[in-house]
Amino acid sequence: MRIGEAATQLDVATHVLRHWEDEGVVVPRRTASGHREYDEEHLVRCRIVRSCQAAGLSLAEIRRVLHRGEPERRAVIDERLRAVRRQQAVLDATETFLVHVRECRHGLVTRCADCSAYAAPASPTQPSRVRSSARVE
Ligand SMILES: [Zn+2]
Repeated sequence: MRIGEAATQLDVATHVLRHWEDEGVVVPRRTASGHREYDEEHLVRCRIVRSCQAAGLSLAEIRRVLHRGEPERRAVIDERLRAVRRQQAVLDATETFLVHVRECRHGLVTRCADCSAYAAPASPTQPSRVRSSARVE
């Protein structure tokens, strides 16, 4: 399919697809007359690109992830995995806090040890800060 049809199916502007091509992320074939030709595999690839972007990856990172032969591919993937796991730890701590605070019986969250624990979530990359349930602001 031509670029216009691909853009419609993906719900993106055609200039986005041209930019991804310029960056070497999704490169369509060319017809004999020079028109870009996208197939279903290109569309799947484009959807993967969008999901990666939504997760915070840059186009340069995405290109490395999607091309098996890219230099430093493993290092880019490992770094993003570490970042995703850090975000996951923050989200898990936030979920724990919200589930608790919804039912918390303390008048002030600072007087509750469980609520206060959320002020210093454990991080795999940082040493745990000292937690004090007695801290009052
Ligand atoms: Zn609480």
